[in-house]
Amino acid sequence: MEKEFSKITGSWNNKSELEKTIAAGVYGAPELKPDEKSAFLGEFKERVLRALTKAQVEENTVYVEIVLALQDKRAARLIYSGDIDYRYVDKYVKLSRKYGKPYTIRQDQKYKSDIGLLVASNEAVDAGAVVAVNREERLTRLGLPLPVIKAAPGKVCDECYALIEQAAPEELMNYERLTFFDRLAGEKCPAHPD
Ligand SMILES: [Zn+2]
Repeated sequence: MEKEFSKITGSWNNKSELEKTIAAGVYGAPELKPDEKSAFLGEFKERVLRALTKAQVEENTVYVEIVLALQDKRAARLIYSGDIDYRYVDKYVKLSRKYGKPYTIRQDQKYKSDIGLLVASNEAVDAGAVVAVNREERLTRLGLPLPVIKAAPGKVCDECYALIEQAAPEELMNYERLTFFDRLAGEKCPAHPD
């Protein structure tokens, strides 16, 4: 089957419309750029707005890149790999519901890649380097101290909150301010434990 399939796609351009119709009916439509599609959970790379690796999806913190991609009017759906435990995907599924985008799981064994989740469009968007930079790396480059980066998702003191607001305001979605009552209850800023 595999051999016959490549024989058909190989000479595809030389076939008449009728032959194409017949061949497509028998073997399915010819798959273009199959390697690229399997690398991005069955989507063409040029239709991918943003993607995360499996390890990134398994972080507790939401990647703001995915939130921004879901807000993009070209975004058509969220797709995630069936290889990832649903408890890690859940935070992104909630977001896709919030922004009214459908979500799909891809279980097919042929999608063996590092990609864990992506936001795709129905059209070519040519978003360039679509895989997000690791959050810790990105925020370190922006000058945030590691204890502040690692405090997410969670509460931080006013000082840390202001630091995030200045260096990476989009990240505030992953933080809350410690309130007076939190402090009374014994909660402390993870970046300022003393
Ligand atoms: Zn603090």
